[in-house]
Amino acid sequence: MKYNSHTPRWRQEQIIDEFLDRVDRLESQDGCWIWTDHLSEKGYGRLWINGKRMGAHCFSYLTFVGPLHDDKPIVCHKCDNPACVRPDHLFAGTHYDNAIDREAKGRRRKLIGEKHPLAKLTAEQAEAIRLTFQKGVTTYRKIGEAYGVNHDVVRRVVTGKTYQPTERQV
Ligand SMILES: [Zn+2]
Repeated sequence: MKYNSHTPRWRQEQIIDEFLDRVDRLESQDGCWIWTDHLSEKGYGRLWINGKRMGAHCFSYLTFVGPLHDDKPIVCHKCDNPACVRPDHLFAGTHYDNAIDREAKGRRRKLIGEKHPLAKLTAEQAEAIRLTFQKGVTTYRKIGEAYGVNHDVVRRVVTGKTYQPTERQV
């Protein structure tokens, strides 16, 4: 995204402040930064910069990591969380990497699903959700949207009905 070259310095700082205002930083070690504004159908954060729509994770990568190059034009997630915008959870990859990654994640979800009818979250994500609620800054619905699960799944995680902290999912 070319917003850097056409945007005055003060405006860039304002954009970054506005961006960070819309992020819930989970307090667990390596916790995801959850985008709390618009999400795409697939759960990716969305924002508008100078009238152009872009992925919140792409904005984060371009702002805090660096430019993308033609050989690796896609911003991918190391964590299994499309709503995450934490710079060190992101990496530049190819369309091929992205497809392989999705396939691997799909497989993992399926395996977990066979073990547990409600499982769509990793143990780390469940822990991150619990920590968010301990801070009391968000709602079941909002966090459910961020993780792509029903608010009832979130409620069960928070109340300890599923994903007990000692339980290993994978
Ligand atoms: Zn993350």
